[in-house]
Parts: sequence; C-alpha cells; structure tokens
Amino acid sequence: MDRKKFLLDENEMPDKWYNILPDLPRPLDPPLDPQTKEPISPDQLSAIFPKALIEQEMSPERYIPIPEEVRDVYRLWRPSPLYRAERLEEYLDTPAKIYYKYEGVSPPGSHKPNTAVAQAYYNMKEGIERLTTETGAGQWGSALAFACNRFEMECTVYMVKVSYEQKPYRKTMMMLWGAEVIPSPSTRTNSGRAILEKDPNNPGSLGIAISEAVEDAATHDNTNYSLGSVLNHVLLHQTIVGEEAKLQLEIAGEDYPDYVIGCCGGGSNYAGLALPFVRDRLEGKEIEFYAVEPTACPTLTKGEYTYDFGDTAGLTPLLKMYTLGHDFIPPSIHAGGLRYHGEAPIISALKHDGIMKALAYHQLECFDAGALFTRVEGIVPAPETSHAIKAVIDLALECKKKGEEKVILFNFSGHGLLDLGSYELYLEGKLKDVDE
Ligand SMILES: *Cc1c(COP(=O)(O)O)cnc(C)c1O
Repeated sequence: MDRKKFLLDENEMPDKWYNILPDLPRPLDPPLDPQTKEPISPDQLSAIFPKALIEQEMSPERYIPIPEEVRDVYRLWRPSPLYRAERLEEYLDTPAKIYYKYEGVSPPGSHKPNTAVAQAYYNMKEGIERLTTETGAGQWGSALAFACNRFEMECTVYMVKVSYEQKPYRKTMMMLWGAEVIPSPSTRTNSGRAILEKDPNNPGSLGIAISEAVEDAATHDNTNYSLGSVLNHVLLHQTIVGEEAKLQLEIAGEDYPDYVIGCCGGGSNYAGLALPFVRDRLEGKEIEFYAVEPTACPTLTKGEYTYDFGDTAGLTPLLKMYTLGHDFIPPSIHAGGLRYHGEAPIISALKHDGIMKALAYHQLECFDAGALFTRVEGIVPAPETSHAIKAVIDLALECKKKGEEKVILFNFSGHGLLDLGSYELYLEGKLKDVDE
C-alpha cells in the first residue's frame, strides 16, 4: 500500500531559509523612490522596518540561518505534513502522482505565520514593542496577531471596515491573541480622518488600511509596520515550506517533482514552495512551474511587467513587477487573498524570464475543485488554495490523456474552515462567476 503522509521529526526541520537572489539569472531591478524615481536607500526603509529585514531584502547570501527562537515557535506546527492525494488520483483515474504540502496546520490556518513569526522576532530583537498592519478578510492580521503574541509584543491591525462587520471570526481570533483590531477608515490617523470627513460611511479598502497602518508606524518610535507578502524577505521566510518538501519527497522516493503548483496573490506561499525547486531548475533539472490566479485579478496572465506602486494610494516605493495598475480594483471574489493588483518582484522576474508559467481560472470552477477535493480527500481548502487544486486536476487529467506518470507537487496554502460562508453560498447555487 502507498503511504499517505510523509512526516519529518522536529529535529529534522530545516535550519536555513533559501535566498534565491544570488542565484537569479539577472539581478532584480531595484525598488525606486516614489518621488525621485531613484533607487531607494536602506535608510529610507528604516522608519518602518528593522535593519535585519532590510538586510534580508537585498542579501547576497544563498542561505540565511533561521534563529533558534523562530524555530522554537515554528515547532508548534512545523515540520508540516506532505500528503499524497491518492484518493484524488484514484478519482481522476490518472497515472500522475499528486503530493501536497499542507500549511493549514498552523494555528491561524495558513502559511502566513511562517513570515509573521520571523518578522515579529527581528522587530522584537531591535527593541520594537508594537507592530501595525492592515488586513482584509483577516488571514494576514490573524497571522501577525499570533506572532506578536508569541514574543509578547503589541499588535494593531487596521481591518477593512466591511470585513470587520461581515467577517467576525478572524477578528475574534486576533483579539484572543491580544491584538487591537481597528475598523478602517478610523479616527486614529490623519489619512483615516481625512476620508471619514468626506464620507463618514466609507466601507474601507485595503489601500486605505495600508495608509493607516504605515502612518501609525511612521509616527511612533516604538512601532514598525509589517507586510504579509510581495517583498523579498517575506518570500525568503516562506522557503521553509519548499525546503521541508524536498526532504519529504526524498522519503517518498521521488527524485524531483515534474510540476510545482501554487495559487498566487502576492506570491509568497507559491514562492515558499517553489523557489528551492527553482534552484534545481536553474541547475538543469526539468521542472515546470505554474502560478495560479483568478481570472478576476489576472496579474501574471494579463498584467504588464513594469514599475508600479505597491499600494493603491501610491505612497510605497515603486516595484518592478507584473501589475494591473495600482488603481485596479478587483471584483470582490471569495478568494480575498488573491485580490492584489501586483505580484512579488521575484515571481514576476521568473515569469518574465520564462522560468515560471501562469494560469488563470474562474471563481466557480475553483469552488467546484475545492468541493471535489473536500469530498475525495477530506480536507476543506481555502478558496485561494482551490485555485491551485483546479490547476492540479487539469494537469492530472492531461497526464491521463497522455499516459504520463508525472509527479505533481502543490502548496495547500490554508484550510477553508473560516470560509464556510462562501462554501454555503456555493452549495446554495448563489455563488456568482465574477469576471474581468
Ligand atoms: C493570503 C493567502 C494566499 C495568498 O497570498 P500569497 O502571498 O500569494 O501566498 C493564499 N492562500 C491563503 C490560504 C492565504 O491566506
């Protein structure tokens, strides 16, 4: 009988993150100052980020040690399991072998604490007492609330007001971990007050919440800001996922995966799984990479590769990336984590250079895939994750047509137990196919 899951012991957990920067075929284009359009200097970032993270953002070191204190927190759920989706293989009647790295085992239920814990740690080490951030549906806010709680730091989360009112469960999680959750726009900041003056009933947006969180951090000495995706150091912290998966595939008796797949919002969970395998690809291994996104926010498949702001308000440095334009407002699909106008510069460069490919799927077909996965494999995927699953199913069926026994590996970025409201609409047939 084939084995279902491949586990590592706690003491086999990797002790280094993989930094792809020195291995990239060409250096990344630098972030630019939004005003002067000149490459930004590290000091400009130090108002809101700690030195250690600014260094990691441009580090030339291939491997960066994971501090013992961070590994200690990781041990609560890491190493995460690698599963073989054999029932799905059977259901699809495919010769392909499907493996997935299950990141839903973390306390907040997704991959996001892999970086939240590291970021809280480095800030704490440099004397920072409080972190601010923004959150939409609450996945990133809950990861940072959890991380701050581990290091006895304060955490202020500006949560988009409609989500604060309509999605109460993650707000409750954040509060249980001791975070202060503020509906945004708020009266706490100049940017919030300016918006409320014009429109007291403004429902809020991620862009407004970012402006509030950054302003709060920039105007308080003991406070920094923390970002959950896109930046190089965030992707770096996620590479523990791929480093573990390599060891686990070895136990499973696989040399290399033929396909590595993941859903892409800002690109961090996919990068975390994929980058350690990209290194093998750059050394000549035949591995194909598919980043999967919603057709409603088709950054990699339809965006332009150019410099753009990271935020809606146009305050952040300019990043060279695939973008739909910083003023692009994606329709409100249920995979909230995939609604970002841009894409991590590292993922963007790999796509631009032909090392990664991108696929886009409609909302409804992803929910079909997520519901099928739940029925067959038993674990409810987050709507974001269901995008990766849809791509996996299509590839496995392609393998069936061609009679190919390929090895498919995907990142199961998070469980969907706090997204049951969306699944309820799906089951009632009320879920719409929102589109471009
Ligand atoms: C936030 C989130 C994503 C998307 O973010 P990335 O930075 O692209 O990984 C995907 N899946 C889940 C479960 C998330 O919470």
